Amino acid sequence: MKFKCFILDLDGVVYKGNELIEGADERISKIKKKAEVYFLTNNSTLSSEDYVAKLRKLGISAEEKEIITSGYAAAWYIRKNIPNPRAYVIGEEGLVKELRKQWIDVGHRNCNVVVVGLDRGFTYAKLAWAMKLILDGAEFIATNTDRRLITEKALLPGGGVIVKAVEEASGKKPIVVGKPSDIMAKIILEKVKAKPEEVLLIGDRLETDIAMGKKMGMKTALVLTGHTRREDVEKSSIKPDYILDKL
Ligand SMILES: [Mg+2]
Repeated sequence: MKFKCFILDLDGVVYKGNELIEGADERISKIKKKAEVYFLTNNSTLSSEDYVAKLRKLGISAEEKEIITSGYAAAWYIRKNIPNPRAYVIGEEGLVKELRKQWIDVGHRNCNVVVVGLDRGFTYAKLAWAMKLILDGAEFIATNTDRRLITEKALLPGGGVIVKAVEEASGKKPIVVGKPSDIMAKIILEKVKAKPEEVLLIGDRLETDIAMGKKMGMKTALVLTGHTRREDVEKSSIKPDYILDKL
């Protein structure tokens, strides 16, 4: 099977934290000679520009238009659905940058939308303010619901844990824009020029990457360099088309 387009999840597929997965740079440069490539991530702490810089540092050529982050998805959704948006952000610099790039006003007071992603400076005060805004009627958007963040050094709580805190406090469910949401799927299908069956989505998580690829009618490959072990596939109802030791 020859694919016209490859969608690669980043963490656990291309790198782990800041460390390149062995051979991923060469593999990607081979793929890029023959097919379109997009990089996909639920991690909103960096902007698309930052991801380009991070990939280049690891020896992988990338352009901003090839990067699709959950922060980009949040900005895309707000632009389409919330008139005169002003956002209160629980998240990091990359998420704020991504929103501002779409001309979304970011602030503290008079906000009609609360955007929540991974925030390593998360505090009780931020939680209290987000709760107040949501109870006052602001929309609640989550970049993702990933429970864990795998880094090269340790296993850490993911953005989903912070989203849950806001959800518990406000009593409202968020609109989730990251993988495996229909919103992310729509963005991908808009960008990709190939037909879904000509696309291979490669990821390390069954519930997010593989589930979303299947939902879009794409072929899917699970790599075993990240979150999932071969045994997990047997236990799961989500089955990838291919299982690869690494990219
Ligand atoms: Mg991953």
